[in-house]
Amino acid sequence: MIWNETIECMSRKEMEKLQSIRLKQVVDKVYYNCEPYRKRMQEAGITPNNIRSIHDISKLPFTSKKDLRDYYPFGLLSSPMSEIVRVHASSGTTGKPIVVGYTRKDLDVWKEVGARCFTAYGLGKNDVIQVSYGYGLFTGGLGAHGAVETIGGTVVPASSGNTDKQIMLMHDLGVKGLACTPSYALYLAEALEKSEYKREEFQLKVGVFGAEPWTDEMRRELESKLGIKAYDIYGLTEVIGPGVGHECEFQNGTHLCEDHFFPEIINPETGEPVKKGEIGELVFTTLTKEGMPLVRFRTRDLTSLNYEPCACGRTSVRMGRILGRSDDMLIIRGVNVFPSQVESVICEMEELEPHYFIEVDRINNMDTLEIQVEVNENFYSDEISKMLDLKKRIAHKLQSVLGIQPDIRLMEPRSIERSQGKAKRVNDKRKLQ
Ligand code: ADP
Ligand code: ZN
Repeated sequence: MIWNETIECMSRKEMEKLQSIRLKQVVDKVYYNCEPYRKRMQEAGITPNNIRSIHDISKLPFTSKKDLRDYYPFGLLSSPMSEIVRVHASSGTTGKPIVVGYTRKDLDVWKEVGARCFTAYGLGKNDVIQVSYGYGLFTGGLGAHGAVETIGGTVVPASSGNTDKQIMLMHDLGVKGLACTPSYALYLAEALEKSEYKREEFQLKVGVFGAEPWTDEMRRELESKLGIKAYDIYGLTEVIGPGVGHECEFQNGTHLCEDHFFPEIINPETGEPVKKGEIGELVFTTLTKEGMPLVRFRTRDLTSLNYEPCACGRTSVRMGRILGRSDDMLIIRGVNVFPSQVESVICEMEELEPHYFIEVDRINNMDTLEIQVEVNENFYSDEISKMLDLKKRIAHKLQSVLGIQPDIRLMEPRSIERSQGKAKRVNDKRKLQ
């Protein structure tokens, strides 16, 4: 099912035309209404007249997370406060919060893109959907909430936490769709298994998972544990919240709502565009936002773009899985390591639970990498030789993927902390030194 066929299946030429018109509008808006943007454009020697089509976008200066912090809280608004009807703030995974203001029209755009997502997952007005993303300043809860109401589904605004009640609601209300972070979905899956209910008493069929990086291996894990189809939803507070992109039934990349959020991929070192299909840093320009439009915002998320039309009929560009943020990347003894690489190995070993924690330190001038992994109950044993053998096999598999040898610490079942929102899986102690 497609929510907005006219837009989602538009020809590339028409899409570029629409993007060009909207880019000119948004550049005008920030130039005449937001001093920091005007100043920066003047420094770069350009005016709105230099922007004639979407292909001129690379003439514009970038905006960074630092800019959002420097102009905290409202310095980057392009609409007067009287037009702002809501604020959200980033959860602050990487430092001080960032505050974003929305006009009524921004909220409408958010609902529209959210509706495209939930429709693509096969959900509609006859379905009960539980939103277990946190409600509040975090965009996850209210974002998914607005999307479900827009498609006419029945929303259960559970928010995160109170896991037993979540399971009861899911069971009693015949919930078909569950929206939460993949790490919270794992937690719920465990709780469901231990609950008084049987799996077949649930109507659950669809997972709407995002707000943190997750791998295809984790997808398979969640799908088999919950007996569902698990879809990706992507978004970020600065741009709007969840709904910037979504998977379709073919799950071959995340379609981006590029009529509202124009994506580019750049080389994070040079700022230059990468070659078609190459991995780099994702950059967004919001084409229709009023409250806090963003021009060439550097997300730090690493991914690639694919412009081939999709088998689902949508022509919108598809983004590859987010490898991680550039600031999640660990450089250990000179080797680049992403937590997602560790996750993919751990999820593939049946002896292990999909829970892990990465600890990095520097001892005697040497980087150390310890990976704590949780052993599945059925494989956990008092026999030292068995456990040593398992440790060796994990280390070997990880070494072939990461390129460096990690230390493995085997943990008892259920001993690694579970997450109810975005999981924290890395502790880099070197930063404190
Ligand atoms: P914070 O920056 O404080 O974490 P946000 O909630 O705005 O606040 O987080 C947005 C970020 O979360 C994205 O930039 C991306 O790194 C990550 N993210 C969101 N959705 C996904 C997804 N589906 N896959 C991978 N990463 C995601
Ligand atoms: Zn598709």
